[in-house]
Amino acid sequence: MFPSETQCTAYLEAIRWPDGFTCPVCEVRDEAQRIATKPRVLRCRHCRKEVSLTAGTVMHATRVPLQAWFLGAYLVTTQTPGMSAVQFQRQLGLTRYETAFQMLHRLRVGMVRPDRDRIGADWPVEVDETLVGGRTNGEGRGVHHKVTVAGAIEVRTRAELKKSQGAVYAGRLRLRQVPNRGAKTLSGFVKENVAKGAVVRTDGWTGYDELPLVGYVHEPLVVDDGDPERTDAHLPMIHIAFSNLKTWLMGTHHGVSKQHLQAYLDEFVFRFNRRFYPMTAFASILGIGANVAGPTYRDLYDGEWDHHTQSSKSNTP
Ligand SMILES: [Zn+2]
Repeated sequence: MFPSETQCTAYLEAIRWPDGFTCPVCEVRDEAQRIATKPRVLRCRHCRKEVSLTAGTVMHATRVPLQAWFLGAYLVTTQTPGMSAVQFQRQLGLTRYETAFQMLHRLRVGMVRPDRDRIGADWPVEVDETLVGGRTNGEGRGVHHKVTVAGAIEVRTRAELKKSQGAVYAGRLRLRQVPNRGAKTLSGFVKENVAKGAVVRTDGWTGYDELPLVGYVHEPLVVDDGDPERTDAHLPMIHIAFSNLKTWLMGTHHGVSKQHLQAYLDEFVFRFNRRFYPMTAFASILGIGANVAGPTYRDLYDGEWDHHTQSSKSNTP
C-alpha cells in the first residue's frame, strides 16, 4: 500500500481529515496547497499557514522516512514474538542503532493508549504477580535484580461450548510493573485495571485480602499450600501469560532493564490483545501514533520519560 512517501503522507492526511483538509488556524475547509520541497507539510490557501502532517505524532521532527515508520509499525505489530532493536535496524536498513532504538520506543508509546479501560466487566478475571528479570553473574542468588509484575487477564467462555473441555480461552490482558506485593499495591493495581464488581480469582496470598472491601467478588484459592499444580488449575491463563512474557523478554531482548520494563510490558499486552487481529493492530498503531507524542532519545536515557503519565496526558483525540 505504501510504495513511496506520497502514499504515506496521503494516508496521514486521510486519517487526520477524513472529510477533507480543514485549516486548524482559520478553520476554512478547502483543498490544501502542496509544497514540493516539504512533502510532510500542507499550506492553507487562505491564511497561508503551514500545517505539519506529523505534528503531535511519533514521527514528528525525525528525518527517518515515513515509509520506514510504516514498515516499522507493521513489523512491530505483526511479527511474533516482536523484534529487538538490532533486528529492527537490519530490517529497515537503518545506519544507526540509536535510530532503530528510538523508533521502537516511540512505537511502543502508541501501544499503551487503547488499553486504558478496565477489563472484566463481562468475564471473570485472574490476577497474580510474578518476578521478572534474573540475577547478574557473580552476585549470587536473590531477588535484587528482579522486578515484580502484576497481571490481570479475562477468562472468557465460548457460549456454544459451555461446560465442555477447551471452552475457556484468554481474553484481554493487563500487565504493570509494581514496587511490591503488598495489599495496598495489589488492590490499587486491581482497581486501576479491573472493572468494579468483577469476579477476581487469585491465589491465597494475603495481599489480595482487601479485594472484597474495594468492590470485587473475590475468589481466592481456598487451600493454598504452595502446590504449583493446584495454583495452575485455579489460575491457568495468567500463568501461561507470565510464562510467555518471560520467554519473550529473555529470547528476543535477552532481558531488559528495570527502566524500560513497562514499555516492553505494554508492547507485549498490545500484541497479546490483538493476536487474532494483526492487521487491525497495524492500522491502530498508525492511528494512535497520529496523536501521541514520543520520547526523544535523551528522554529515554535520562530516565525522565514516564510511559504512563505521558500517554495519559496526550490522550486527546
Ligand atoms: Zn488557514
